[in-house]
Amino acid sequence: MAEATNEASKTTDPAKVFFLWRHLNKLRWLTLVIVFLMLILIPFLHLYQTYTAAHAYDFLAPTEKRIYDIMEFMTARFMSDPAEDLDALKGTTWSGTFWGLKLSDPLAPLSQMATGLSVYWPFLLTALIPTVLTVFFGRFFCGWICPASLIYELNSNVAAWLRWAGFKTGEHRLDKRLKYGVLGLGLILSAATGSVMMATIYPPAIVGREIYYSIALAGFGTGTVFFLGTLLFDLLVARRGFCRYLCPGGALYSLLGRYRLVRIRRIAESCNDCAKCNVVCEFDLDPLNDDFGQECTNCAACIAVCPTDAMTFTLRLTDYPAQGPGHLGRQYRRQNEPANEDEAHQGLAP
Ligand code: SF4
Ligand code: SF4
Repeated sequence: MAEATNEASKTTDPAKVFFLWRHLNKLRWLTLVIVFLMLILIPFLHLYQTYTAAHAYDFLAPTEKRIYDIMEFMTARFMSDPAEDLDALKGTTWSGTFWGLKLSDPLAPLSQMATGLSVYWPFLLTALIPTVLTVFFGRFFCGWICPASLIYELNSNVAAWLRWAGFKTGEHRLDKRLKYGVLGLGLILSAATGSVMMATIYPPAIVGREIYYSIALAGFGTGTVFFLGTLLFDLLVARRGFCRYLCPGGALYSLLGRYRLVRIRRIAESCNDCAKCNVVCEFDLDPLNDDFGQECTNCAACIAVCPTDAMTFTLRLTDYPAQGPGHLGRQYRRQNEPANEDEAHQGLAP
C-alpha cells in the first residue's frame, strides 16, 4: 500500500517555483523600510532647502546648523543648487514628487474630486501610474509601499509577543465589506463638507504628515492620536484589523485590483496542508484553500513561509478554483490510497 502511495506521488510533476519568489518577502521588508526612511529624510531635506534659499547659515541655531551640515554632506555630490534641485524630491506617499516624477495615491485625486465636485486633470493624472500598477498587481501598495503597513506589521509582532506572554489579543472577525462603506461615506462627507475628510482617517497619509510635522515643525497633530487608536484597534479587535475592515485606501486598492493579472497560486501537487500560509497571512485570507480574492496584497509572505515550495505567482485574472487538499498531505493520501490499492490489485498501477 505504501509503495502504491509513493508511486502515485512520483507520477505527479509539480510546477517548479522560481527561486527568487521565496526571497521577495525580504525585498518587501526592505522596500517598506526604504519608503519609511524616505519620509524621514524628506523633511530634513526640506529644512536644508529652506536654509539654503534664505542664505541664513550664520543665523541658524546650533541644531539647525547640524542639520544643514549633515544634509550638505549627504547631498553635495549630487546637486549644485540645493534650493532648486531639491524640488525633485518632496511630499509623501499621499502625493509627492519623486526624482521629478509627480505621483499620487489614487485616493488623493478621488477625494479631491469628491470635495470639489470637479475633476482637476493634472492632479488626476498623477495617480495614473499607481492605478495601472494596482490593476496589474492588486493591492500591492498595502504590502509593499504603505508606510503605515510597516508599523502595523511590527504591531502584529508585538501582539504575538503579548500572546506568548499570556495576554489575550483581539481575534474577532468583522465584515470585510465595512471598509467599502468607510470609503463611500468618506467621499460623501468630503462632498458635503468641502474638505478632504479621507486624509484625516487614512493611515499612510497620517504617517507621512505626522513624520513631517514632527521633524519640520517639531510637533504632532491629531493624526498621531488617531493612528495610535488604529494600533490599539489591531491589538484589541483583530490582527491588521484597521487594514482588513476600515481603511478606505485598502478598500479602493481591493476594488481596483479585483481582476489583477499577477496573483498567488497554490500548487496542490506540492502542498502538504501544513497551513503555515494561512497563519502568516496578515489579511486573514485562506491560501490553503486557494481563496485569495481581491484582498490579497501579493506580499509573498505565504510563498516565503511554505516549506514545500507550494506557493508561487501566476498570471491569471481570477483565482484558481479550489483544488482540494494538498497531494503531500494526509487527507489527499487517505482519499487516494483505496483507489491506488484497487488499481494495484488489478495490476493497473504502474
Ligand atoms: S489597508 Fe490602508 S493602512 Fe493598511 S496597508 Fe493598506 S493602505 Fe496601508
Ligand atoms: S495570501 Fe499570501 S500574498 Fe496574499 S496577503 Fe496573504 S500572505 Fe500575502
